[in-house]
Amino acid sequence: MKRFLAAVFCMALFCSLTGCKSTGESSAEFYAMDTTMNVTAYGTGAKSAVSETQAEVDRLEALLSRTRSDSEVSAINSGAADAPVAVSIETAGLLNAAWSYSHTTNGAFDITIAPVVSAWGFTTDHYQVPTQPALDALLNAVDYTGVLVEGISSSSARVTLRKGQAVDLGGIAKGYASDCVEAILSENGVERAMASLGGNIYVRGTKPDGSAWRVGVQDPDRSGGFVGVLSLSDAFAVTSGGYQRYFEQDGKRYHHIIDPATGYPAESGLTSVTIVADGNKTETPNTPGNGTMCDAFSTAMFVMGEEKAAEFWRSGAYNFQMVLVTEDGRVLVTDGLADKFEQEDGSGYAYETISRTPS
Ligand code: ADP
Ligand code: MG
Repeated sequence: MKRFLAAVFCMALFCSLTGCKSTGESSAEFYAMDTTMNVTAYGTGAKSAVSETQAEVDRLEALLSRTRSDSEVSAINSGAADAPVAVSIETAGLLNAAWSYSHTTNGAFDITIAPVVSAWGFTTDHYQVPTQPALDALLNAVDYTGVLVEGISSSSARVTLRKGQAVDLGGIAKGYASDCVEAILSENGVERAMASLGGNIYVRGTKPDGSAWRVGVQDPDRSGGFVGVLSLSDAFAVTSGGYQRYFEQDGKRYHHIIDPATGYPAESGLTSVTIVADGNKTETPNTPGNGTMCDAFSTAMFVMGEEKAAEFWRSGAYNFQMVLVTEDGRVLVTDGLADKFEQEDGSGYAYETISRTPS
């Protein structure tokens, strides 16, 4: 007993000197992947998890950025047509996941949209409306089926593109980063945490007081306003919206989510899409999980629009829920979120539920 009390006393002394607390909070805010990110974790392991998170996001950006000339994505994009480019297993794995999300969304999400995104100036911030002939020429090469990913589980993973093609993981990389953050928190034994990677939210466990994390769904038309709040624990919640990145020309707004069918910013009648899925505990670190899925689907459902998105959700092929905000002032919430979504009083929106069977 004496020895036990002495140990407790030593621990207490150590903690008062080092500032550690068993429920201690550790947090960081940083800029990466072209956006602001923050992470807050609680308890033992929180401090190291937070600093590892920052390093991990930097590592992923160096690997996956399209604008960094020394990234693997740049190596793929600058390779000769039809010639395989050697990549890491990790990059091949993410491209493989991106490929299958392109396939399953029938090309609404398309990893080969890169040249079109560039033509609009979204990679350089030198915005412009491309001419139709220029867009038509670029659209010829937009076709994810032309991307060949081989050897994904071997040390000789490689990626081959067709003539004129380039890949863009901008619509999925932050979601993948949130999967990697989940793995880091797990490895550090952190049970409560919240990470926000530029619209990609991951919440782990509950808040320290035992209540669910509250994740606001932004009002696309009212900066700082919300259409509602989600109460979540152990979940990913990813939002894509035309209001997040855009430019204006001749009184018209052009945003950064491109419809691969037209080459123009998607005009599907939606102003934002939030996808929610289980905060899966990754068995194998550095492999795509639900964070990646949410990111791909938030972009894809935005392109698809209300009806096709609802149909896709109803197919039940993937386990996720969603909140759609429409241009005509409605907020559509899938029934799996009914008990988690709180409407915002006085938002001016009409609220509807999307059920498994269409009404
Ligand atoms: P954000 O990156 O602002 O969180 P998204 O996840 O919706 O938003 O991703 C948008 C990014 O994805 C664009 O900046 C572009 O790089 C890329 N992108 C745009 N349209 C598509 C598309 N149809 N399919 C795949 N990627 C896209
Ligand atoms: Mg996305």
